[in-house]
Amino acid sequence: MIPFVDLKREYAEIGEDVTTALERVVQRGWFLLGEEAESFEEAFAAYVGVEHGVSMNSGSDALFLVLKALGIQEGDEVITVAHTFISTADAIVRNGATPVFVDIDPDTYCMDPTKIEAKLSGKTKLVLPVHLYGHPAAMDAIVSVAREHRLSVVEDACQAHGATYQGHPVGRLGDAACFSFYPTKNLGAYGDGGMAVTNDSALAEKLRMARNYGQQHKHCHEFVGVNSRLDEIQAALLRVKLHHLDHWNTRRRAIAQLYTEHLRDTELILPHEHEDARSVYHLYVVRCQQRDRLQQRLSERGIQTQIHYPVPIHKQPAYAQSHRQVSLPVTEQACTEILSLPMHPFLTDDEVMQTIKGVKECL
Ligand SMILES: *Cc1c(COP(=O)(O)O)cnc(C)c1O
Repeated sequence: MIPFVDLKREYAEIGEDVTTALERVVQRGWFLLGEEAESFEEAFAAYVGVEHGVSMNSGSDALFLVLKALGIQEGDEVITVAHTFISTADAIVRNGATPVFVDIDPDTYCMDPTKIEAKLSGKTKLVLPVHLYGHPAAMDAIVSVAREHRLSVVEDACQAHGATYQGHPVGRLGDAACFSFYPTKNLGAYGDGGMAVTNDSALAEKLRMARNYGQQHKHCHEFVGVNSRLDEIQAALLRVKLHHLDHWNTRRRAIAQLYTEHLRDTELILPHEHEDARSVYHLYVVRCQQRDRLQQRLSERGIQTQIHYPVPIHKQPAYAQSHRQVSLPVTEQACTEILSLPMHPFLTDDEVMQTIKGVKECL
């Protein structure tokens, strides 16, 4: 059996440090908005190369609250992609605004910047690109269109901790960026977690209040916020894991290289890394015209694969009615052909080679 992800193996590597960190929190008896979250915010912001990190309960909440703090409201339009996890678009709708989907670049599966301008209207306020599968979106072009039209830019970096664009980590290329610490992300908690990062002090301050009932001082609620904090146990754990992020990402890249080297001579379309980008391979996604058949055959051999994502957002029941007219040919085609192969830093070379052999035999 080759598991798609296996977090038990990760614990085997870091268990001792994790236990020490968790014990420290439990002994201290302080579980929310304490020194662990603060230290982790500082460390992660420094890792990204920005001034401020504001930890939250999830990447979804980080996206929701960042958009709200940037003033997104009913009547506004936000440019994003339909080829992403649902919560990218939900963050827009939860603020009463409308997602306007642009198609993706068929090579990187990220927002195609040349398609943005045609979708702008007087109501457009913000552009929300996604660094999908660990591969940075074409930020140069995206930011330049956005600036020309005075639009804010927020990066959905929930799959791209440590990915670099033109040599710098993603997360500092727009007005703010959002990360998720969902357990299977490149940097994952033992539960939910997320963070917004920004160089804008006023925005950071607003976010700190928004995640904590709109209060800066106890019992004074300046606006209606939410309860969305990263608890001390998760923060302590993430401080430990942050030290491993770079070598885990390096291992993901080595696995990706192995896949690419040995699958190059097949009919599969393999991931393409843009020259400006260094992917952290949150997922290794191939394309195959007989995708469902391949997935079925691999499953019969015990090789687990997944599809990210089988249905584009504008075709989801929650969105289909309001986006009837939307046509995104590249997105729609990709959804029928993509397949995510097993990918996590604890795959052995032997397992990768078994997967490669399996794929070749199942095509
Ligand atoms: C995981 C993910 C999110 C949401 O993060 P959660 O922490 O699970 O709420 C948002 N966008 C993308 C692209 C993601 O992969």
